[in-house]
Amino acid sequence: MYDVIIIGSGPAGLSAAVYAKRALLDVLVIEKEAYSGGQIIKTDQVDNYLGLNGIGGYEMAVRFKEHAKALEVKFQTGMVKAVRDNGKKEAELSDGTVLTANAVIIATGAKHRKLGAEGEDEFTGSGVSYCATCDAVFYKGKDVVVAGGGDVALGDALHLAKGCRKVYLVHRRDTFRAANFLQEKIKNTDNIEFLPFYEIKKIAGNGMVEEVTMVQNQTGEEKKLPVSGVFVAVGMEPDTAFAKNTVALDEKGYIVAAEDCRTSVEGIFVAGDVRTKQNRQIVTAVADGANAALAAEEYIDGMEQ
Ligand code: NAP
Repeated sequence: MYDVIIIGSGPAGLSAAVYAKRALLDVLVIEKEAYSGGQIIKTDQVDNYLGLNGIGGYEMAVRFKEHAKALEVKFQTGMVKAVRDNGKKEAELSDGTVLTANAVIIATGAKHRKLGAEGEDEFTGSGVSYCATCDAVFYKGKDVVVAGGGDVALGDALHLAKGCRKVYLVHRRDTFRAANFLQEKIKNTDNIEFLPFYEIKKIAGNGMVEEVTMVQNQTGEEKKLPVSGVFVAVGMEPDTAFAKNTVALDEKGYIVAAEDCRTSVEGIFVAGDVRTKQNRQIVTAVADGANAALAAEEYIDGMEQ
């Protein structure tokens, strides 16, 4: 039995762990893999975290975890398949282990959205990638396509353009969500070609990706691109199936909570990208972690009175 179980070890979860530990709570962090750290571990470079401009995402994840470890936060590897409120809070792992605590903080982040193109699953790992930072090295001198119009897609296209011969940036509209400075850089990079109003429908090849088929969504015209890699960067979606019978979710599956990080169930808190919120940034995840831990401390103090 712990004071607080934190599910997830990205910036939100680790920030919550540091704050909870400093409140002298007995804290367990459950992480999917020993090498976790959330989305930042797959981010090439982080330029907007105050005081750490230009830090590599992996280095940042390592430093966050070292901070929690230095405070002797406990870690356990496991996949949570259910969170329950039976007076005490329970987190059930996929191997059947049930862990209990006075409070739970859910900080599970979000996972990559798929394109939904034919062949996407078949070629994942054989030319289809969701992480340019991890896989760009395999595409040196080759032609690749990046799908999406957000910060990640444009950042990925720029990263890939450093080593690839040609990068096609395919987006379903002609305007981007991505930050203006990224859009400027894209315009000024010779080996990036922007293809607006296209949607990738099919990915094909012989063992490895060789070609994508796209459709122009205004004219219906079909176009084939010979490419070796397909980098999918069409956003994230929350992974909250394990909590859906316990806490309130919004229509997209995010856990409903305001800035105080209190969910619809007393004693269960939510922090980071998995919470309903406007801005999903590292700094807002870290802030959530602090808010959730302080709210959990207040809740536990209230139980003892
Ligand atoms: P995002 O901002 O949600 O952008 C997703 C993009 O994919 C959008 O352009 C969207 O098109 C497109 N899209 C969605 N579903 C699609 C589909 N089925 N087929 C084709 N295109 C599809 O996602 P993101 O770029 O992954 O970024 C996630 C969050 O992390 C954002 O809040 C972003 O600002 C943040 N982020 C921050 C940093 C940083 O702090 N430096 C770095 C990276 C990301 P539409 O535009 O037409 O909807």
